[in-house]
Amino acid sequence: MLQEIFPYKLDNHYYQDEKADEKSIVFAFRGDAREKEILISQKPDGANAFPTLLEFEEIAGVDSGIRDELIYLFKIDDEKYFLYPSYAKEIALDDSSFGKVWSVRREGKLPDHQVFALYTAFHLCEWYEASRFCGKCGAQTIHDDKERAMACPKCGNKIYPRINPAVIICVTDKETNKLILTKYRTGFAQNALVAGFTEIGETLEETVKREVMEEVGLEVDNVRYYKSQPWGIALDILAGFYCDVVGDKEIKMDESELKYAEWVAPEDIVLQSPDYSLTNEMMRVFKEKGYEGTI
Ligand SMILES: [Zn+2]
Repeated sequence: MLQEIFPYKLDNHYYQDEKADEKSIVFAFRGDAREKEILISQKPDGANAFPTLLEFEEIAGVDSGIRDELIYLFKIDDEKYFLYPSYAKEIALDDSSFGKVWSVRREGKLPDHQVFALYTAFHLCEWYEASRFCGKCGAQTIHDDKERAMACPKCGNKIYPRINPAVIICVTDKETNKLILTKYRTGFAQNALVAGFTEIGETLEETVKREVMEEVGLEVDNVRYYKSQPWGIALDILAGFYCDVVGDKEIKMDESELKYAEWVAPEDIVLQSPDYSLTNEMMRVFKEKGYEGTI
């Protein structure tokens, strides 16, 4: 899965006083949400990479004064990652220097741990950009001096990084040894599972039952947790569950969300490529071991 970057290791502790050095990696995004792009540099051997601070200053034509604008994100092993926020001084560069964040996964031009770094940086970037002003009183926020949070100097409101909980659901039928595969109506084109966000006031298990009913019109039981996955590009934490259909097995698909939902046997499951998602791992478990692999 995306977050499994062994032998690399993510250190997401917030080091308040960490300063960028010339070898630090700089993420510079531009654009909004789904259209967001990331600055990519080319190494002398032609490989794609995210620029070091020194490369960033050279490519973007900015002086070292911009170092004050950088926000510390995290480390991977000893490599430090920083954000150059898009609300800082605009970088005058042509389109060829940027790549679409949503297509980086598909193109597979970056090492896996860098893709995970990008997804995690994207999540933090979206949160930092959305937290510049206090939602309660409208004043400009400042970085909290102890933890990763934005603080309002006027009313004392504290804004912590926001992570949206969502579930991935593999609906199984023990009797026929099949699972339900879906395809979204828009966006991602490959096979997927039933999925949805948790609403305020419900448990993850209740989200599972509600989303299955909403998307495919079925009742489920025996909800069993599998694994979780941070999915920064959608600002999510995903929790994967297997569950059993009960009663009527005829699918009544929600056509506003899905364009395909069918019962599929293990041998007919076509997996996603590249292999990054929790969804794909859950489908693979069923493809290799059938229902027995899910209990
Ligand atoms: Zn405030």
